[in-house]
Amino acid sequence: GQCVLVCPTGALGERDETERVLDYLFDPEIVTVVQFAPAVRVGFGEEFGLPPGTNVEGQIIGALRRLGADIVLDTNFAADLVVMEESAELLRRLGGQRRPTFTSCCPAWINFAERHYPDLLPLLSSTKSPQQCLGVIAKTYLPERMGIDPARIRVISIMPCTAKKDERTRPQLSADGVAEIDVVLTTREFARLLRRQGIDLRQQAPSSFDNPYMSAYSGAGAIFGTTGGVMEAAVRTMFHLVNGGELPQIELDQLRGFDGARIATIPVGGAVGTVKVAMCHGLRPTRAICEAVRAGTADFDFIEIMACPGGCVDGGGTLRSKKAYLPYALKRRETLFAIDRATPVRQSHNNPQIQALYRDFLGTPYSEKAHGLLHTYYTDRAVEMSLTVKQVWQDITMST
Ligand code: SF4
Repeated sequence: GQCVLVCPTGALGERDETERVLDYLFDPEIVTVVQFAPAVRVGFGEEFGLPPGTNVEGQIIGALRRLGADIVLDTNFAADLVVMEESAELLRRLGGQRRPTFTSCCPAWINFAERHYPDLLPLLSSTKSPQQCLGVIAKTYLPERMGIDPARIRVISIMPCTAKKDERTRPQLSADGVAEIDVVLTTREFARLLRRQGIDLRQQAPSSFDNPYMSAYSGAGAIFGTTGGVMEAAVRTMFHLVNGGELPQIELDQLRGFDGARIATIPVGGAVGTVKVAMCHGLRPTRAICEAVRAGTADFDFIEIMACPGGCVDGGGTLRSKKAYLPYALKRRETLFAIDRATPVRQSHNNPQIQALYRDFLGTPYSEKAHGLLHTYYTDRAVEMSLTVKQVWQDITMST
């Protein structure tokens, strides 16, 4: 067959993906659903010269509407959903033999575990990432509620992350040939798309989410974009699931540092007692904690892993200041914490749209239906590590 050049940096693929987004937006038969990640709203303004950490959530929604997006949803909503499923899953696992549980929302971490630590895969939470949870719910529950033919829906994600592009193509994240997510743009690509369409974010009037089913979010969902945020969000809901009430001190300062690995002991109470947690960001601390778990020397119940130093606020699809990432990431993170403080509902389980989703569609967290839609599995891909560059290149050229 014809030999197609595969660009190792993905730049060629990026151009094609942008074209596909425009095709979807201009096709009257297609209902476009666009989501953007928690970290995007605090990093995207920089692409248009705004100071690091400026919250441009409203301008992004406005720009998407101007581009012709039919339904604009928030990945924060799906982060709340992940908290519900992951907390329920963790509580089932606590006290069992499988310890610790690792978070599963970062696809670069999943790839790393599948290739380098396949023996640890049974420890990973089976809960899909927020991107994928949103996709699957947008193609099942949303069309049911809105009276839309699900076959007309295409879900477009705007992510701070290049690994999300790879995640969307995982075979276990498609059902009957229908992918949960149809296309992923990085924040960089989305900025390029807006410029091409003549939209300047600085001039864009803000708009707000208006979907009554899948766009409300809690402060817990908002902080998913930063390292430690997933853990903090999960602890708020775990406490509620165990005790019925709310965790009195909801901002967990011991989780908010910026060291590569942080540990804390959380008094959840009830039959659970205390939960020992750790957070890692960046691959070196991740490798160290995986080695400790393998050796049986890591005494934790729950470990959050984010492959990017700083978490998604400094993800691989955003403007990055390379070595000096901290000033950018810190500003973006401060804004996420400010969003959490300013959001009336701060726990995922108190998000009224999440409550409605369980009441009207899923049943309870970790129910059979929730499990079928929102949970996944991982595969041992250690063999990929032994492929030589030549073999990989042959595979690429043979398959075209
Ligand atoms: Fe993507 Fe990085 Fe966030 Fe992981 S930490 S989901 S690789 S942006």
